[in-house]
Amino acid sequence: MANSYNSIYLNNLSAFCARLSCGSLIELCKAVALGQVLNGVAIIRPPGHHAEPDEAGGFCLYNNVAIAARYLQKAHGLQKIFILDWDVHHGNGTQTAFYDDPNVVYCSIHRFDHGAFYPGDPVAAAHTAIGEGAGRGRTINIPWNSSGMGDSEYIYAFDKVIMPILYEFAPDFVLVSAGFDAAKGDHIGQMLVTPAAYGHMTHMLKSLAGGKIILALEGGYNLDSIAVSGLACAKALLNDPIEPLGSIVPNALCVQTIHEVIEVQSRYWKSLPQVYTDPIEEPVVGRHVVGMNKMMEAYRKSYLKERYDMIPMAKLESETGPAFLDNVHCT
Ligand code: ZN
Repeated sequence: MANSYNSIYLNNLSAFCARLSCGSLIELCKAVALGQVLNGVAIIRPPGHHAEPDEAGGFCLYNNVAIAARYLQKAHGLQKIFILDWDVHHGNGTQTAFYDDPNVVYCSIHRFDHGAFYPGDPVAAAHTAIGEGAGRGRTINIPWNSSGMGDSEYIYAFDKVIMPILYEFAPDFVLVSAGFDAAKGDHIGQMLVTPAAYGHMTHMLKSLAGGKIILALEGGYNLDSIAVSGLACAKALLNDPIEPLGSIVPNALCVQTIHEVIEVQSRYWKSLPQVYTDPIEEPVVGRHVVGMNKMMEAYRKSYLKERYDMIPMAKLESETGPAFLDNVHCT
């Protein structure tokens, strides 16, 4: 049975463990939603973010975080959920679950390598996968095309994309798919995020939603890295001092990726720099966009004037109006 899935390993207790993992997160959500605790960390396995609504995959049986989000909506009326997935892999299952949902923002920051990195979907994990229908702009993918991304790159992504969107969305609850396989020392992720940066990211996220935030463990394959990174997150949640970061200077590949993400997402988020300039799908109001017809009009007007000394003349029928101004020329 396990062999019929992609990267699934089972024993006779796996199904029970998966329910325990998912149920633990639901219980924690309940405690935070009811105000019994301020926030929390769910140290659970198996992880969940690769589990599709109808198929297990990537060590994941049930999609813990996706189920928790629906639980918060249905049982506690917390409608607007922000899910940040900083596991080094793209959370394909979570993305699928909310792809057309305007009330759940799913933001994944992951290693992509142009589609070569697991789960290896060059379309679904790209920055151009943005949701569909009412959910357009509610899926945000920040795909790194290289290993070696570290504190500077992750903090830069927070500063330029994640936090502006978070403030604009104003969620009722923040869930983090907190894999630690982007941590320094993880041989699968091969990224360089330090505990200090995990602490800072947690600190930034917990400023939203009245502090209602839960971190749920996903991947992570170096036990020491998981331990020190998770500890830094827990300390940030407890308001302990956060270790200082070094100087934040993102590398060129990161700056390019973030620019591409902003280019696509600025159509949907007013708080991002408005760099989107393709007016095909939606009218673009108040931006410096010139239609091709206007350009052609201007060119023809200047061409006819210079070559034949013709000037544009308004046609006088009032119902046609000045739209004909450039269409009738006379010497
Ligand atoms: Zn992972």
